[in-house]
Amino acid sequence: MRIATTIQEVRAFIAELRSERQSSEAGNLVGFVPTMGYLHEGHASLLRRARRECGIVALSIFVNPIQFGPNEDLDRYPRSEAADLELAEREGVDVVFLPSVEEMYPRERKTTVTVTGLTDVLCGASRPGHFDGVATVVSKLFNIVKPDRAFFGAKDAQQVAVLQKMVSDLNMDIEIVPCPIVREEDGLALSSRNVYLSAEQRSEALVLSRSLREASARIESSSPATPEQIVEDVKRAIEASPLAEIDYVQMLSFPDLSPLDQKRDLSELRKSGGSVILALAVKFGSTRLIDNAIISFK
Ligand code: AMP
Repeated sequence: MRIATTIQEVRAFIAELRSERQSSEAGNLVGFVPTMGYLHEGHASLLRRARRECGIVALSIFVNPIQFGPNEDLDRYPRSEAADLELAEREGVDVVFLPSVEEMYPRERKTTVTVTGLTDVLCGASRPGHFDGVATVVSKLFNIVKPDRAFFGAKDAQQVAVLQKMVSDLNMDIEIVPCPIVREEDGLALSSRNVYLSAEQRSEALVLSRSLREASARIESSSPATPEQIVEDVKRAIEASPLAEIDYVQMLSFPDLSPLDQKRDLSELRKSGGSVILALAVKFGSTRLIDNAIISFK
């Protein structure tokens, strides 16, 4: 496994691997998994999928300052370079890109990538500028690594929708591959931020996956509920937990993230063959957790 800290190095490593593996059976497709580190099984699942599909696997670990708001957790975001490199090695990563902030942002930046519309709702509404930071860093990483496929978790479903739109609008020749949410056995979605939770908060946080599971079952069944009723019931379940503070619970169409008629029951949507997302963000103390369920009426 090669470790690059500069843009020049990572480009050189990937170019070498591409030419070495040109005629190998696994091919010389580059699969890319961008992360902020403190890697867990969710990240590992993306790396495994990339390993299965691509001859060359690149991982980036970069806590991107421009996607954090002024009162967010940039300064205390968890880091563990040694354990991350061990996990990467175990998962058969070929190249790890570990740039410094100065390497990624060496001078005043005059360019920002903004995806409009899709970023006005859900986390985009609660975290102004967050998706500009994400779209900008992912564009830069795509230009540096030049992957054929990039693997992202559905845990950040809005991020997937935003990046798919960016790639399509800007004619980037990269396939965005969404991968399923990995959960603990008790249902909690894996997240680097779970380490902040106290034992009590962690136990109460199970209400998120539980209420999403129950709501998904209702949405998929022939229940006559409206989106408004489903959202209200999820909110009520979460509010029963004294440590939870809801940021949002919303149900939208997916992947366009446009509003649903909140008062119409779901029968027409079921017939339409589209997809919906039920997404939430909830704070436990100062830790903000997100989770979602995507339901396809196929
Ligand atoms: P992060 O390091 O939090 O920026 O995440 C890097 C990538 O891992 C993103 O594509 C996330 O969606 C994905 N990811 C994080 N948690 C999970 C999870 N529990 N299941 C699947 N993918 C995840």
